[in-house]
Amino acid sequence: MKFITKSIHAGQKPDVATGATVVPIYQSSTFTFDSFGVNKGYEYTRAGNPTRTALEECVAALENGKYGIAFASGLAAETAILSVLNSGQHVVSMQRIYGGTFRLFEDFFAPRGLQFDYVESLEAKDFEAMIKPETKMIWLETPTNPTLSVVDIEAIVKIAKPKGIWVVVDNTFASPYLQQPLELGADIVIHSTTKYMGGHSDVIGGAAIVNDDFLAEKIHFFQNALGGVPSPFDCWLVLRGLKTLALRMQQHSSNALKIAEILTTHKAVNKVYYPGLPQHPQHQIAKKQMKAFGGMVTIELKGGLPEVETFLKNLKIFALAESLGGVESLANHSATMTHASVPEKMRIDSGITDTVIRLSIGIEDVEDLILDLQRALNSI
Ligand SMILES: *Cc1c(COP(=O)(O)O)cnc(C)c1O
Repeated sequence: MKFITKSIHAGQKPDVATGATVVPIYQSSTFTFDSFGVNKGYEYTRAGNPTRTALEECVAALENGKYGIAFASGLAAETAILSVLNSGQHVVSMQRIYGGTFRLFEDFFAPRGLQFDYVESLEAKDFEAMIKPETKMIWLETPTNPTLSVVDIEAIVKIAKPKGIWVVVDNTFASPYLQQPLELGADIVIHSTTKYMGGHSDVIGGAAIVNDDFLAEKIHFFQNALGGVPSPFDCWLVLRGLKTLALRMQQHSSNALKIAEILTTHKAVNKVYYPGLPQHPQHQIAKKQMKAFGGMVTIELKGGLPEVETFLKNLKIFALAESLGGVESLANHSATMTHASVPEKMRIDSGITDTVIRLSIGIEDVEDLILDLQRALNSI
């Protein structure tokens, strides 16, 4: 089956009990046994729930993976994945990762004995140089948040595979419609389904997708043992969002490309980060591993905080808000909002200066979005 067909049908057969065409919200914490020792496959919703199973089968199908494991948030998914490692083991991570991921590494797992090193460059040889005997995982995020750098997944897999190191890809910004890391050889894909997969800014969720039986068993175990599970209603919302993921990603991507092209010519804009622009430093890699370039456009304004404030104040359609990937357009000031927990030097090194603004381009009419941005830029 092709992607959009899977998004509507995978894991979503008519309900066995009632024939309900849409997967019901099984809002029950517990399931009655048929008789002593005999049940229908469900006992207690932390361990498993039919609405969650439907979502898990669907996300696995969309990533072309064998196992999907759903969580209460992207960070809960990351927590379960990192729990597979033992004290003393080592993770090589990209430096340009989501701020909350960095906080989880440094403030939770590092004090408990995991080791982390960060690679500022995007070159496979620089990741290879960081590998030690204790290295068990390489952690990638591509495109990155917020400067939309792209890392070559296949090139990293090539250095990791022979050494038995797992490659994890945070695929939140691309979504499985645009990029499928397992197909490129990665071992674990993680998503914040809060973003494009849910797609409507109304749910927090996460997912891990793997092919390997050992990893699936471990991550499943930690899903139940740590307890970061999504509610049946939240699973249902994400499942509903997935049905239109392909259509939304097409519209997000075409809107974003037009906006990125127009913003490069505006005199108030210093820099535009978008992997779909030919001048983007990793444009060729993005073309190779992505179907289109996604809905995130990051700009750096000329000037300083006063210019940022004027611009944000004059936006009418774009809302000033964290998060991304919903149908509505959002603007985010990275330095004071999403990346406030990243140390200043690391933030600046990663290109997140005080005038960087991340735009989550929604699926509104692109002409309206362009007018809104131009009006706000002209007011500076
Ligand atoms: C939002 C986000 C996360 C964290 O997900 P939550 O659902 O907020 O816990 C992780 N990675 C990326 C790239 C994100 O954008």
